[in-house]
Amino acid sequence: MRILITGAAGFLGSHLCDRMLSEGHKVVGLDNFVTGSRDNLVHLVRNKDFTFKRHDVSEPITVPGKLDAILHFASPASPNPASPFGYPNLPVETLKAGSMGTFHTLDLALIHQARYVFASTSEIYGDPLEHPQKETYWGHVNPVGPRSMYDEAKRFSEALIMAYYRSKGADTRIVRIFNTYGPRMRLDDGRVVPSFIQQALNKEPLTIFGDGMQTRSFCYVNDLVDGIYRLLLSSEHLPVNIGNPVETSILNFAATINRLAGNPAGVVYSPEDRMDSDPQRRRPDINRAKAILGWNPKVDLEVGLSRTIEYFKEKLGIK
Ligand code: NAD
Ligand code: UDP
Repeated sequence: MRILITGAAGFLGSHLCDRMLSEGHKVVGLDNFVTGSRDNLVHLVRNKDFTFKRHDVSEPITVPGKLDAILHFASPASPNPASPFGYPNLPVETLKAGSMGTFHTLDLALIHQARYVFASTSEIYGDPLEHPQKETYWGHVNPVGPRSMYDEAKRFSEALIMAYYRSKGADTRIVRIFNTYGPRMRLDDGRVVPSFIQQALNKEPLTIFGDGMQTRSFCYVNDLVDGIYRLLLSSEHLPVNIGNPVETSILNFAATINRLAGNPAGVVYSPEDRMDSDPQRRRPDINRAKAILGWNPKVDLEVGLSRTIEYFKEKLGIK
């Protein structure tokens, strides 16, 4: 296949490029670098099966040559308002990537009769009242809250994709991604994994927002990419959760990172309270992914975190 990947210079996009190339496909990467980095793609510069286009998905997209698949992953992804790369500081950009960007990539998929995969999110469920979250749950989202630019863009995209599928025959797929981590996350986008690892490697206390009792379920990037590849090859058109169902409190998560990084500094509680917008519990129900895709996450949290710590050590020049 010849595959267009939007958001290719980002964390997930760059790993998707690697996986598609390793499967023998050709990849066209597209990105405007708003949160991504060229560093994530330098190893592909000499790969004859990889080409790159600098472009904003909010503008109409043309790609010369035939496309067989389009993966729309371009969007800011961090909820942290303290980082310039967090979507609260890129609100209109985020809404455009998840509306106009979705229109443009869907139109391109129709022109090329290409398979289409959209990077949706567990944020579709908002601060969920149902636990764990099944794909059938409609969610609990504040449409005007501090995360609304992201949540509503993703919800709009899902609605648009189903409209293109049902009324125009587009060959679409939707993956609802739960917290995924690994090498190539941006150090300064304020998400919990790079923030905690950076603090741990600097022997500083890890900053906990709220009381740390809120939970997340963390999936290693290779597992997620494997699920996405299976979804691409499948003919499943309804949303599929992909994530690791092992749930942990943020406080426990911090303790694990401190232990793995050998950091004795413990934790500190942030004076800023974001808890009115921070989902309190999150854990995917992955029965559909298991049944439809034969997918199951394989990488244990400590193994995945150790690999990620090694990556950040190298990035920060720490021996
Ligand atoms: P990331 O910030 O590392 O990557 C996003 C990439 O998209 C960046 O390279 C950025 O420059 C690019 N981009 C953003 N807006 C663009 C635009 N208008 N035009 C072109 N490129 C643009 O984040 P990520 O974690 O790799 O997330 C990738 C996708 O997966 C996003 O759509 C995100 O919403 C989704 N997602 C990620 C997670 C996760 O845990 N990592 C969870 C749920 C959903
Ligand atoms: N978090 C934290 N300290 C940080 C960054 C995040 O305690 O420095 C918490 C945050 O409040 C949330 C969880 O970690 O409960 C995951 O945050 P992240 O920004 O990675 O993504 P989210 O799952 O909220 O989209």
